[in-house]
Amino acid sequence: MRTAKTDAAAQATSTSTGKNEQWIDKAKAHLLQNYKQQPIVLERGLGSRVWDADGREYLDLLGGIATCGLGHCHPEVVAAVRAQLDKLWHVSNAFYTEPQIELATRLTAASGLQRAFFCNSGAEANEALIKLARKVQKDRGNADRYEIITFENSFHGRTLATVTATGQTKYQKGFEPLPAGFTHVPYGDLEAVRKAVGPHTAAILVEPIQGEGGVRAAPKGFLQGLRALCDEKGLLLLVDEIQTGMGRTGKAFAYQHEGILPDGISLAKSLGNGLPIGAMLCTDEAGKSLTPGTHGSTFGGNLIAAVAANVVARKVTEPQMLRDVAQKGEYFLTRLRELQGRMPSVVKEARGLGLLIGVELFQDAAPFIAKCRELGLLVNAAGEKTIRFAPAYTVTNDDLDHGVRILERALKS
Ligand SMILES: *Cc1c(COP(=O)(O)O)cnc(C)c1O
Repeated sequence: MRTAKTDAAAQATSTSTGKNEQWIDKAKAHLLQNYKQQPIVLERGLGSRVWDADGREYLDLLGGIATCGLGHCHPEVVAAVRAQLDKLWHVSNAFYTEPQIELATRLTAASGLQRAFFCNSGAEANEALIKLARKVQKDRGNADRYEIITFENSFHGRTLATVTATGQTKYQKGFEPLPAGFTHVPYGDLEAVRKAVGPHTAAILVEPIQGEGGVRAAPKGFLQGLRALCDEKGLLLLVDEIQTGMGRTGKAFAYQHEGILPDGISLAKSLGNGLPIGAMLCTDEAGKSLTPGTHGSTFGGNLIAAVAANVVARKVTEPQMLRDVAQKGEYFLTRLRELQGRMPSVVKEARGLGLLIGVELFQDAAPFIAKCRELGLLVNAAGEKTIRFAPAYTVTNDDLDHGVRILERALKS
């Protein structure tokens, strides 16, 4: 339905008024140059569409990097945030607030874990997991158990501890000395994990699907194997659900595909539909270690972010919403595999679960991502050669078809 319009917009680039360019000149003068940013200035969004400063429309199948699960300006999120804006914004965690208590109630019910701690980002949620694991082992009398096993090619954040947990040296180079207490083993290799467990091991931290690492899922049974190993060795199983949680894979949380219960999980990205909020959820038993004064955050669980997250938590636990995500994801993956069949020398693999999907190419993805944008489609790279799609759960099959058509044109160019 929107195809003609977006294609018309695509042809209008040459006649753009140049507001994008003016802003980008200022950005280059004043912003820290730590990102490879796509050269457009986005101004407005609705559902799976966004518009740039020159009024050009794009199909957004990236959703703020797996963050705007309900789409841009979802009316229920907007209404909840608007109502809260006139009431109260922030009081700190020196006091109780209703939205935060409601959110803890919803997330614990959905996850099977009993305790919730709120922060502002994914990295902070993982920091909370790391501190939790160390403190639990100390409290059990295992003062020597401080090491966290994580995986090669993983991504856990940019703070010093989480970048050390991250199993990719490109994120660590130049920031040494890195904090002690992390070791990396090949993803999906249960025997390697077993061998890495030693007298200092406290916990295992794992992504159910490596998102930044190229949308790579662990082999079936891997999380179950880790759960059994953790039980056998007295370790905590920590699952990084920052990219995969809040309905993204067609379950509320991706570990639920394997029927296990972790000791702790981290959430962020989709949790606030674009407002900054993270969470660490854990078992009642583990949570006992973080006693008053041991951890905290000034902004964590702030009322504005919490009311947005409550709408997300309510909607992404509705069975119909989860079925939609699973069905749309299967539909999209099928279309992408057909595309692979048409272009087997360009597309190496299309993979993913629910609405977290990667298309791996035989070459660097960056030029094709730029071409997609020129044709009116927003995506990004996960790893060097993989194009990542993380559309809103409200995306239509028509939008997904349109995305595949643009991708095909970009790959043929
Ligand atoms: C994005 C991401 C993080 C880091 O989240 P920030 O909010 O950027 O700190 C950590 N782990 C995973 C799996 C992620 O996808």
